[in-house]
Order: sequence, then C-alpha cells, then structure tokens
Amino acid sequence: MATPRGAHIASEASSSPTEKPCRACTDFRSWMSSQSKASSTARPGKVLNEAAAATDTTSNSDRKEGSEQKSEIDRDKSNASHSAANSFEDDIPLWGDAKKYGCPDDSNSLGRGSWSLLHSMAAYYPNQPSPQQQQDMKDFIHLFAKFYPCTPCAEDFKEWIKIHTPSVDSQSSLSQWFCEAHNDVNRKLGKPLFDCNLVNQRWRDGWADGSCD
Ligand code: FAD
Repeated sequence: MATPRGAHIASEASSSPTEKPCRACTDFRSWMSSQSKASSTARPGKVLNEAAAATDTTSNSDRKEGSEQKSEIDRDKSNASHSAANSFEDDIPLWGDAKKYGCPDDSNSLGRGSWSLLHSMAAYYPNQPSPQQQQDMKDFIHLFAKFYPCTPCAEDFKEWIKIHTPSVDSQSSLSQWFCEAHNDVNRKLGKPLFDCNLVNQRWRDGWADGSCD
C-alpha cells in the first residue's frame, strides 16, 4: 500500500530521538523500514525520508525496496502538487470499478473504525495538555456524540458522558476514560471487558512481548 499523502507529518509528530516513532503517523511499510533502522536513526519520526534514501550500505533487495519507495514518494509529491494546482475532479485518478470503493459501514465496522480513532487520539494526547487542548478535546467528544451516525449508540453515549464527565487533564486519564466508555458498550453488548491497564500497549506502544514490532 502506498505511503499516505501527508505522511511526512510523521517527522513533526515524534518528539525525541529516544522515543519510538509515531506508529499512527505512518503506514505499515514505512513503519517496518523505520524499525529496522531504529538503532542508527537520529530522528526516528523521519521514516519517509529515511525510506527514500537508499544508501550505499544497503543490500540489493533493500536498494530495490528503497527505490520503489522513492518512486512512490516522487509520485505522491507530484500528485500533491498537481492537487494543489488543479481542481479535485480532474486530477485524482478514479479506481474504475465502483465495488473497489467498498460499501457503507454497518454499526460494527463503524464502531470498530470509530473506537480505533478515539483510542488512538487518546493514546497520542499530550501528557500535560494546555487549557485550550483540554477544552478542544471536551468539545470534540461532545460533537462526536452529537453526530455519531448510529443514533441509538449516540443517544446512549451522550447519556454516559452526562454521568461520566470526560477526563481530559492528561493522556493517561483520557485513555482510561475512553477505555471505560468502550467497556460500558462492551458490557451492554455482552462482550468481554478490556483490561484498561493495557490500553497504551493496545493503542500506542504495541504489546510488551514485541509481537507488534
Ligand atoms: P470493538 O468493540 O469495536 O473493539 C475494537 C477493538 O478495540 C478490540 O478488538 C479491542 O482490541 C479494543 N478494545 C475493546 N474494548 C476496549 C476498551 N474498553 N478499551 C480499549 N480498547 C478496547 N454497537 C451496538 O451494537 N450498540 C451500541 O449501543 C453501540 N454504541 C457505540 C458507541 C460508540 C461511541 C461507539 C464508537 C461504538 C458503539 N457501538 C455500538 C459499536 C460497538 O462498540 C463495536 O464497535 C462493534 O460492536 C464492533 O465490535 P468488535 O467486537 O468488532 O470490536
């Protein structure tokens, strides 16, 4: 799968050389590439640039991989500049076969995608958010509940928010709050509850046994 346009923001999203690169900011292929180079990497978030730079020390297969990625990046850059210059309709290639676009979400696929977004937002929320960031997150949660397209789900979620005020004062408290919100739905649907101690491993760091690395 091609690197998503705008994935260069990965370099802005990582904070220090000692931290893992931001997994949610890059695609799987670039992520793997960055992991294999992690030990010699000065700026871990710069996965795109590193993937593009096939150096003299790489093997032939690495070099092929690197040059394929470079072409992808060049193509992305070219598409991006075209997009900026031209109108949306006449620049973006159509897939041709409508079925490849997929079908509308049902409540399960919508739920899975939504939880993925919500838990990931919490996972990457600042440890010490500014008052503005805290207010923005509160607003986001209320607006999300207002517009969530599964109406009965949204109604229950709004009721839950009324009783459980969003905890927005840190990454940890927000992640726990979403975990509890999700567990409330799990309970309602008769599903197993999730151990909220594991929420950062599930949504940010990967499992302690290294199975996600
Ligand atoms: P999901 O429940 O979508 O979970 C996806 C993944 O999240 C799991 O594989 C697991 O790794 C992880 N996970 C599970 N629990 C937690 C947790 N507590 N904390 C962190 N990570 C966790 N469906 C309904 O039928 N009725 C409803 O009223 C309803 N309300 C919803 C309200 C909201 C706000 C949202 C976002 C979704 C709601 N859904 C509802 C959808 C429902 O929660 C599930 O998403 C859907 O049933 C698909 O379930 P799933 O088993 O595929 O996994």
